Amino acid sequence: MIHKISLIPLLAVGLALLPVSTDAQQIPPYDPVRGQDREPRVSDPPELRRNVQRILGGVPMTAADSMHQTIVERLDFESYKELIWGLTRFGDREQGTARNQAAIEWIDSKLRSWGYPTERLYYDYTPRVREGEPIPDPEPREQVYATKVGATTPGEMYIISAHMDGRGGGEAANDDASGTALVMEIARVLAQEDIVTDRSIRFALWNNEETGLNGSTAYVEQRAALQGIENPPGSGTYPEPRWLGMIQHDMMMWDHGNPVTYNQALDADVDVEFQMNSALAGPSALLGIALINANRMHASDYPAVLSNAMSNTDSTPFMDVVPSVSLRENRRLYETGNGANPHWHQTTDLFETFSDADFMLGLNAAQTTLGALTKLAGVRIVD
Ligand SMILES: [Zn+2]
Repeated sequence: MIHKISLIPLLAVGLALLPVSTDAQQIPPYDPVRGQDREPRVSDPPELRRNVQRILGGVPMTAADSMHQTIVERLDFESYKELIWGLTRFGDREQGTARNQAAIEWIDSKLRSWGYPTERLYYDYTPRVREGEPIPDPEPREQVYATKVGATTPGEMYIISAHMDGRGGGEAANDDASGTALVMEIARVLAQEDIVTDRSIRFALWNNEETGLNGSTAYVEQRAALQGIENPPGSGTYPEPRWLGMIQHDMMMWDHGNPVTYNQALDADVDVEFQMNSALAGPSALLGIALINANRMHASDYPAVLSNAMSNTDSTPFMDVVPSVSLRENRRLYETGNGANPHWHQTTDLFETFSDADFMLGLNAAQTTLGALTKLAGVRIVD
């Protein structure tokens, strides 16, 4: 482990020297065997795949369900891992650093490479200080988002999101490159030429989550009042479509039980949470049920469960204005908050820490969200 720790400052220095405008060429090529390029560990599961193939229990798929399944199957395991790999090349992407800014530019360049016009939200961030200390000057920050514009109802949208900033001095691979890559992988699939959505879907990669949900809070403050306004009038363009639902993804890969075991736990699952103490608890629970149903129909390896204590992530600023849920590897307060992930905010939150069984849990959350979106937003394959 010593050699890994000593590399981290070198990596940070190297990334700090990167120019702000970084293109994909500067990222070392993704090596699909990197995660396995080592001696077998006791932590490696005996087999990657799990038997959830018959969980529908005899419920037949309709023709629409089958089309939705075809779309979900375009999510690609290696592509998902490659996106996580790319994000982790910028270290922990801590807000306010050059490597955070370089990661924003990299995410932007990937979204544009798939054909999306990208947008930025600019805001001021005031660092938190202890009581009695002078309040520092606000500093400018930004974050990137892009939109799949709805073909029939462009003025309504679902927001799917994750936070691209991290902390801990490692690579913030799980918290939250795993969620950021999930949103990007869904964006990649929905960009394909033969895919149309009825309603709009926005992909938001928040900054400053780790400092207090500042990026997502700024988005709600700046844009809630713009919802559903056609601008220019008569153009059919809606800069801020009316919000129908908000689905956040934060820490997607590690469910090794608690006490923590070497392997992904046999009952590992995707945790969908809404907040019962919110103005829209009921509609948020229904959004959660839509995700549970989608998981049951479309996820390949891991089930999903719903609970009611969503907390500490970017869906919180939205939860009183639009139905909001988070997807995670564990329940945030009951499990993560009680030591279920020993890599959380640590230098060990590295790409190489995670096995394919871990990455697969993240991909199953992507299948869950995209499966739900196919119904909710009306995603279709056209000839
Ligand atoms: Zn997080």
